[in-house]
Formats: sequence, structure tokens, C-alpha cells
Amino acid sequence: MFNITPKLESLKDDMKMLIKGFKLLNNMLRWVLPITAMTALFSSVYPFINIYMSSLIIDELTTNRKLNTLIFYVAVTITLNFTILLIGNGLSHLKDIQSNLIYNKQEMMINNKVLIMDFEHVENPQIELMRRKISECRNMCGGGVCQLLYGFDRLIKSIITILVSVFFVFNLFTMAKNSLDKGSVAIINSPLLSIILIATILASTFLTMVTNTRSSKKQFNIMDKFIPMNRMFNYYFGEYIDGYKAGKDIRIYNQKELVENEAMSFLHNGNKLFKDIGNIKGGYSSINAAISSFLSGVVYIFVGLKALIGIFSVGSLVKYTGSIYQFTNGFSQLMTSFTDLRTNNKYLKLYFDFMDIKNVKYHGTLPVEKREDNEYEIEFRNVSFKYPASEKYVLKNLSLKLHIGERLAIVGMNGSGKTTMIKLLCRLYDPTHGEILLNGIDIKKYDYKEYISIFSVVFQDFKLFSFSLGQNVATSVEFDKEKVFQCLSKAGLGKRISELPKGVDTPLYKDFDEDGVEISGGEAQKIAIARALYKDAHFIILDEPTSALDPIAEFEIYSKFNDIVGHKTAIYISHRLSSCRFCDNIAVFHQGEIIQRGSHDVLISNENGKYHQLWTAQAQYYSNETSLQHGEN
Ligand code: ADP
Repeated sequence: MFNITPKLESLKDDMKMLIKGFKLLNNMLRWVLPITAMTALFSSVYPFINIYMSSLIIDELTTNRKLNTLIFYVAVTITLNFTILLIGNGLSHLKDIQSNLIYNKQEMMINNKVLIMDFEHVENPQIELMRRKISECRNMCGGGVCQLLYGFDRLIKSIITILVSVFFVFNLFTMAKNSLDKGSVAIINSPLLSIILIATILASTFLTMVTNTRSSKKQFNIMDKFIPMNRMFNYYFGEYIDGYKAGKDIRIYNQKELVENEAMSFLHNGNKLFKDIGNIKGGYSSINAAISSFLSGVVYIFVGLKALIGIFSVGSLVKYTGSIYQFTNGFSQLMTSFTDLRTNNKYLKLYFDFMDIKNVKYHGTLPVEKREDNEYEIEFRNVSFKYPASEKYVLKNLSLKLHIGERLAIVGMNGSGKTTMIKLLCRLYDPTHGEILLNGIDIKKYDYKEYISIFSVVFQDFKLFSFSLGQNVATSVEFDKEKVFQCLSKAGLGKRISELPKGVDTPLYKDFDEDGVEISGGEAQKIAIARALYKDAHFIILDEPTSALDPIAEFEIYSKFNDIVGHKTAIYISHRLSSCRFCDNIAVFHQGEIIQRGSHDVLISNENGKYHQLWTAQAQYYSNETSLQHGEN
């Protein structure tokens, strides 16, 4: 079971997760943490330069008023400001580049994981949901690895701010004028007043921390709600309204109102969430503003009175009030960034859980025998299979042998297990019971890359990409143009390709190129067949490869089937029995079992058999005679 809403129970778990996260960041990009820390250092020191220099300038203005000293202070202030801003901006720029690299690297790592993980995990809806949630969290609020980096930045900034502000404020409580003072001076100078001020600072810091943490938690919770909404946004505005392919259905079935209502309700809910976030931010920042104003007032009175009796200079007023403000701010930032990091841990854990999914398959090491006589034999021996997380056996005690050069047609109703058998043959899944053998050896023992190299498969739900036709057929950047053209011609697309100005270099679809060609479902199937031919593997498996073809094109493929497939071993799957009539060796699947074997003539002659029953039923709807005659004409 895979958990898509993981939780970390204790602070210890959180700390472990953070360390794991920081190690990951460090491994992803060696300099990202030091550069982020340096950027944080510069940006947190910057305000203190101005606070300190302003206090010196004010002191000079209120005391000696020496022009040279003033010029010196101003020059130092400008130089320091300029230097720190310059270095800070440079570092910040570097940090932005690195954050972007981290974002892209994470994307690449996830994609790479999907490409190499066991196929049964790819088809597992929970794992797919995990993957989607990871990218949705990242897109919505940088949740996961990226948020960890922002959190680290804020954490370091707040720690440095606290340290520097404590250093600056220290004197405020240690300096006293004269313990023998009497009256109001003694009161102003008394430790009690200092204790009251410290208590006020701590109380304000605590309150600010509480409000910030609450505000941040609430915002994170709302962000969580944005995640499924983001999915809906992509669906309605990306796939449905924006996708011209849905345009036909929208018009024919008058779906405008339906889509509009759904999209509008989504927008309405989205706006409400934005409003909620605004309210939270607004509400809590007003409270913070009140706390901060109150504290400033108290500090001004305290420091002002001390300045009045001469303990501090007037400039100190600026230094202390500014530093205390920085302290409260820094402390609450420290707490909020820590809370945010802990909240973010659930996204981080989701990412690690996904990346840590173990590959349990494909540990075989045997090379596939390279036989000059091409004598390869596949055997299914008592194979039964049920999909993970399902109790129902989809294949039951299946036994079957297939020699090189043979043709096998598999027919049967939808859902009878035909495609599943091919998935097992290609080791996309392993049998629950029984074994599949290649030349007498369990296929699990073979090196998977070697093993799969002997198969070409055209699945029902094959995919073509928005690359050039040639790249689609050859599945590589560089390809043999002549061979691509020959394969496309064999699949029945020769004329169509020769009419294209760019031939096999024509981009498929218009996603990236206006000159791309849009193709029909039947043409796509032919390209997929050409791709299977280009691979030139010993076994060719066609799973409902002509379902989108018109009867004439279908007939063309059948009549040339032997020519197309050549000396290869072919497995041909279809629920349309007429499609497989040409094959001498037909296996009839029913509810996961092979219930009949033989040629069309033998099978049809058994009037009580499933084949006869299916044939008669289909004949009513799909006249094979008509289609064959069309083809012959
Ligand atoms: P056919 O190719 O004969 O139409 P399939 O092999 O595709 O049949 O499907 C056989 C059965 O397995 C069906 O009941 C189908 O719902 C089920 N099935 C197919 N793929 C999966 C999957 N990934 N997870 C769970 N059940 C599946």
C-alpha cells in the first residue's frame, strides 16, 4: 500500500526528514546550501548596517557636529550599502539560478524514476496519484524539495538576524548611569524597568510568533485545497476548453453550458480560496502590526527616557528600537520557517516515498542466446495471474508453446485476458503462478534489456510522440531514412509519406511545429506497426492493430500480413474474429483460459464451440464477406 497523505508523528521524525532533505539538496547541487546561506547572511546583515550607521550619524549631529566625521560616516554608509547590496544581489541571482536548477532536477529525477520503475507500479493508480500530487504540490506552493530550500533560506536569515540584534541590544540592559541616582532618574535607571522591557519584548515576540505560525499553517492548509483545484484547472482550461479536440463534442452535444458551469464553479471556489488566504494574511498582519506598534512605543519610551537622563545618546534610540524590531521579527521568522519546514515535511516525505519505491523486477542477468538458426521457443507453462491489489484471476492455468516463424491469432471477447497475456510475455508483470520460458529457461532469469529486445509490440493504446515521423518509427534521434520509409510502406503509408514535402522528416502533430501533420487513428496505427517493423525483433505482437482502420485498409494489412511479418514469429490479437481468419493457429480466450485451439475451418465446424458462437454473433454486425470483397475490388 502506498500512502498519498503521509504524516510525521514526532519532532524526531521531522528532524530526520529535514536532515534527509538537506542531504538530498546537497547531493542535487553541491553549492546550493552554502550559496543560500551566504545570501541569507548578506540580506540579514544589511538592515543592521543602516541602523548602526544612522545612530552614529544622529549622535554626531546632536553632539560634535564635525563635518569631516559626518562625511566619513555617510561615505562608509554608502560604501557598505553599495557593497553589501552588490554582493547580496549577485548571490541572490546565483541562488535563483540554483533554485531553478533544483526545480528542474527534481522534475528530471521524478521523470527518470517513472521511466525506470517496474511497470506494475506505473499502472498502479495510487502511485500515479502520488506522482501527480508531488508535482501539484510543487507547482502550487513549491511544496517538497523546493520549499525546503526557501525554508532553509528563511531559517538562516532569522538565526543571523537574532544573533546580530541580540549583540546590538545587549548594552541596552547592561548600561546604567549611576547606582546612587535618586528619584525619577533612579526609576528610569532601575533594573525593574529593564525587566519590564525584556518581558514586553519576549511577550511581543511570542505573540508575533504565534500569529505568524497560525497564519502560515492556515495558508498551507488552504494551499492543500488548491492542489485538487489545480488539477481541475488543468483539466477544464487545458484539456477541455483549450483542446481543440474536444471542440466537436462540445458543439454536437451542446456541452457549452455544462463545461461553463463546471469551470465557473471551479473558478468561484478558487476565488473563494484566494479570498480566504487574503483574509488570513490581512487579519494576522493587522494583529502583528498592532503588536509591533505597541512594542515600538514601549521601546521608544524606555530608550527615550534613558537618552533623556543621559545614559544613552539620541542615536542609540534608533539603534535599539531598530534592533529590537529586527529581533522580534527574526524570532517569529525563525519559528514560522521552522513550522513551515515541518508542514512541508509531508510533501517531502511523499517525494521520498515515491523515489524510494523499490524495483523488484528485472534482476536477471542471463544474456539471450544468439542463435544462428533463430530457433526461439516461448512457452507459457500453467500460468495464472491476478493484478496486484485484485483478487480476481485474469489468466487461469494457461499453457501454450510458440516456435519461431509461427503465427498465432488470439481471439476472444473484451476482458478475456488477451492483452494481459502479452503484458506477461513482455514481463510488464510476472505470473502469479506458473512460469514463462524462453528456450526452456524462465524469462525472469534473462537480462531484461536483452530479453525485451526480441519483441516488438503494437499495443492497443500505443503512443506516438510529437517528434518527426522518422524518429517515431526508429525511436531514436538519428535513423535510417530508407529503412523508415520501407517500414512505413509495408504498413501501408508509402504513398502518404511520399506526398509530404519533408517525407519521413515531417514532424508529427502540431505541438511544436506548425508544419506538423495531424493524422487519423488508422494512420497512427500504421505508424505504430511501422515502428514495430523497424525494430526488427524476432517476435512481433500486434494487439488489435487494425481497430481504427477501415475495412479496405484492414484487408490490405491482413493480405500482406505474411509479407509484413516475414520470418518473424507473430502473435495477432483481435476481438474481431474475421480479422484472424487468415491464421492457421487460432487460440480462443474465454475468461482467462484458452478454451479452443485450431484453424478457422476446424473451429467454425464445431457448432457448440465458443468460436462458432462468437463468429455467428459478430457476423450479424460486421460482415466479413463484405469487407473482404471491398478489399478485393
Ligand atoms: P482483453 O485484452 O482480452 O480485452 P485484458 O487483458 O485487457 O483483456 O483484461 C483482462 C481483465 O483484466 C479485465 O477484467 C480488465 O478489467 C482487467 N485488467 C486489465 N488491466 C488491469 C490493471 N492494470 N489492473 C487491474 N485489472 C486490470
